[in-house]
Amino acid sequence: MVRVLMVLLLALAACDRPAGAPPEADAGPAALVGNRTCPVSGEPVAGDPHNPTFRSTFRGQVIGFMCPMHLKEFEDAPDAKKVQWLERARQDAQATRAR
Ligand SMILES: [Zn+2]
Repeated sequence: MVRVLMVLLLALAACDRPAGAPPEADAGPAALVGNRTCPVSGEPVAGDPHNPTFRSTFRGQVIGFMCPMHLKEFEDAPDAKKVQWLERARQDAQATRAR
């Protein structure tokens, strides 16, 4: 009886393996978003979009900004806002690449 229970438990444990939660985005090296427009102001990013003068890394993504003021505004913002700005920067980079 005890043995049957053990086998059942082992079978259950085998089925119940964790679904391999994906690692957080910031696990690897930071990736440059490559946005040409400052997500905060909508103005062109200062310097080369592939080597922005003012930059911030958020969730493994390097975002470029037009000026230190908007860089600071980004860094002081709550995560929910940063997520929006990151999304805007990514869309900008995609739109630029499609052109
Ligand atoms: Zn600015």
